Amino acid sequence: MTNNSMKKYDAVIIGAGHNGLVCAAYLAKAGKNVVVLEANEQVGGAAVTGELVDGKKTSICAHYLNQLNGKVSSELNLTSHGLKLAATDVPTIALNVDGDHLRFNGNTVQSSNISEEDTANYTKFMSLIHEYANTLGFLMDEPPLDIFNMDFSDKMTALKLGWKLRFGLGAEKMSEFLRMIGMNIRDVLDDEFDHEPLKGAMSFDAVLGTHTGPYSAGNFFTFLYRYASGDRGALAIPEGGMGTVTSAMAKAAKANGAEIRTAAKVKSVNVENCAVSGVVLENGEEIKSDCIISNAHIRTTVLDIVGTKYFEADFVKRTTDVRSRGGAAKLHIVLKKLPEFKGLTSDDLKSRLVIAPNQKEVEHSFNHIKYKEYSEKPIMEISIPSLVDSSLTDEGHILNATVQFAPYDLKGGWTAKAKADFLNKCIDRIAEYAPNIRDVVEHAEILTPLDLEERFGLVGGNWHHGELTLDQMLMLRPVPEASRYALPLDGMYLCGASAHPGGGVMGAAGRNAAQAILKGDE
Ligand SMILES: Cc1cc2nc3c(=O)[nH]c(=O)nc-3n(C[C@H](O)[C@H](O)[C@H](O)COP(=O)(O)OP(=O)(O)OC[C@H]3O[C@@H](n4cnc5c(N)ncnc54)[C@H](O)[C@@H]3O)c2cc1C
Repeated sequence: MTNNSMKKYDAVIIGAGHNGLVCAAYLAKAGKNVVVLEANEQVGGAAVTGELVDGKKTSICAHYLNQLNGKVSSELNLTSHGLKLAATDVPTIALNVDGDHLRFNGNTVQSSNISEEDTANYTKFMSLIHEYANTLGFLMDEPPLDIFNMDFSDKMTALKLGWKLRFGLGAEKMSEFLRMIGMNIRDVLDDEFDHEPLKGAMSFDAVLGTHTGPYSAGNFFTFLYRYASGDRGALAIPEGGMGTVTSAMAKAAKANGAEIRTAAKVKSVNVENCAVSGVVLENGEEIKSDCIISNAHIRTTVLDIVGTKYFEADFVKRTTDVRSRGGAAKLHIVLKKLPEFKGLTSDDLKSRLVIAPNQKEVEHSFNHIKYKEYSEKPIMEISIPSLVDSSLTDEGHILNATVQFAPYDLKGGWTAKAKADFLNKCIDRIAEYAPNIRDVVEHAEILTPLDLEERFGLVGGNWHHGELTLDQMLMLRPVPEASRYALPLDGMYLCGASAHPGGGVMGAAGRNAAQAILKGDE
C-alpha cells in the first residue's frame, strides 16, 4: 500500500472522462482536496486523440466540438490551458451521387435543384429551432427539476421555463413547440419540406449517435437538443484532435489543485454504516473519502463498482433497465492523398460531408440493427481534419467518419471477418461519391459499438451512457432517483453522461454535479 491509503480526500472521482475532469476542476477550485482515478493510461474517456499508424493521429471517438458548455470553457479558462480550435463554424455538405450537392451554412441551404420555397422554409424553420433551443438551453446548466419535492431554486427554474415558453416564444410558437416536441423527425420534416435530400440530411442529425431511425418516436427532441447545448449547433474542430480539449480540462483541474492518476482502475467502493467511505483499486490499494463521484455509466457504477446490495431492489431494476444501445461505429482512414469527390473542390473537403440521401435510406439503414445486422448502405458524417490541422500527420491526410448503423451484438459476433466486411462496406459507400478512394487508402480501421464498450467502457456502445430519448431525459435521466447527481447511497454521486444533460463533449454533467455536491455542503 502507498501513502495514499493513509490520506483521506474530500472527493474521489472515478474516471477521467471529460466530465470527471470538469467535475474535479470545479471541486478543486472550491478548495476541495480531490483525486481523479482513471482506468486507462490516458485521460479523456471518449474524448481522446490517438495514434493510428506511424505517428499519424486523430480523434478516436468524438471529433466535432459542437456542444461544449460555454460556462465550462470560460470558467475553467480552457483556452489558457491549451484549447485551440483549428476550424470553427464548419459548414455541412450533404452529398448527392450525381455531384449536385446540398450546401448548408448557418441557417441557409443551397442546391441547384431545391425549390425556392424549401430554401426559404429552411431558413424559417432553423430560426424557429434556434428559438426553441434558446428556450431550453438554460436547462443544460442546472440539475433537472425535482418535481415531487421542489425547493426554492426548482420553483425558480419552473417559473423561468414557463415564462420563456409562454412569453419568450409567445402563445402561437409555444403551442407549436408543444405539438412538435414528442414527434418523430420524419413527420416534422414531411410537414415542412418536399426536397428529399434536404430531409435526409436533416434527419441524419436527429439520429446521429442514437438507436433511432427517422420514423422512431420522439427524435425531433434529439434534433433540437443538438442546438440547445454548446454553440447552438455550430461545429468546431479542436487543434490536435479531441484530446486537446480533455488535456486542457486536466490542466485546469491540476492548476486548481486536483490530483489525476491514470492506470488506476477502481474495483469497488467501500460502504460503512450505509455511507461510502472510500474506494479500492484493482491492485488492492484503498483510498478514503466520504464523497465518491462516478464518471462511469450508471450501470457500471451501481451494478459493477458499488454493488447492488446497497440499493433498493426497485432502484437496481430501473438501473438495469436503462436502455443503452449503440448504433454508431467510427471509421478512420489514413489517406496517401486526398480522394476526389464528385463535384467538390479540395476546399469543400474542409466541410462536414454527410451521406444520408433521403429519409427512407436513413430508416432502412437503421432497420438492419433491429435484426443484429449492420447497414447494407451505411449513412455517415465524414471529416478530414488534417486539412485544417497539420499537427495530425506529416504527410497525406486523415479521414474520420461516424458511421451508422452497426449493432453492438452482431448476429454471429464481431469476428475479424465481420469487421473487415463492414469496413469494406463503408469504404464502398464512400466510393459512390469519391470513386478513387480505394487508390488513396494507406490504412483503414473501424471501431464497432462492441469495440467502443471494450476500449472506452461505453456500455452497449452507446455514446451517451444511456440513450437520449424522452423517457431518459431531464428529471428522468438516468433514472428518477438519481436525476440530481446523488445516488440513493450517502456520499455517492454521478457526474458523467448518464446524468443530465447527457452525452456529447459538453462538460455540463460534470459542472452540474460539482455544483450539486458543493450546494449539499452549504
Ligand atoms: C464514435 C463516437 C463519436 C462521437 N462523436 C462525438 C462528436 O463528434 N461530438 C461530441 O460532442 N460527442 C461525440 N461523441 C460522444 C462523446 O464522446 C461522449 O458522450 C462523451 O465523451 C462522454 O463523456 P463522459 O466524460 O461523460 O464519459 P467517458 O468519456 O465515457 O468517460 C468515462 C471515463 O470513466 C472511466 N472509467 C470507467 N470505469 C472506471 C473504473 N472502474 N475506474 C476508473 N475509471 C473508470 C473510463 O475509462 C472513461 O475514461 C461520440 C462518441 C463516440 C463513441
